[in-house]
Amino acid sequence: MTDTIFGKITRGEIPSEFLYEDEQCVVIRDIQPQAPTHVLIIPRKPIPRLVDAEADDAALLGHLMLVAGRVARDLGVGEGFRLVVNNGEGGGQTVFHLHLHILAGRTMEEGELARGVN
Ligand code: 5GP
Repeated sequence: MTDTIFGKITRGEIPSEFLYEDEQCVVIRDIQPQAPTHVLIIPRKPIPRLVDAEADDAALLGHLMLVAGRVARDLGVGEGFRLVVNNGEGGGQTVFHLHLHILAGRTMEEGELARGVN
């Protein structure tokens, strides 16, 4: 499997500020924010895309969602945010190490999902 920048970040090989971390995932600010609050929840396990996740990953995927809610609350955006997973090139994915985007702080317009956030 090809390593990615997120593999290096989760392993600490590229210094990054972790807003949150535990044994399963890290949370960092997006380098090119698309909204006033834009953070990434990245599992330490390098699953390339959501479609590559398997039944064994169910607990991890659930954990990432719970962390998203907790981090959104901690960042003060718990009352309004969007959680996005881009899957594959056709879905706008550019880093092939599964991650969740939390976007908040601006109005999320209808139809934006169709256009993509990136
Ligand atoms: P994707 O398009 O794959 O869903 O999202 C990848 C995201 O990672 C993009 O929003 C991009 O700005 C962000 N990103 C890419 N490289 C880096 C990096 O080295 N550091 C951080 N913090 N974000 C990155």
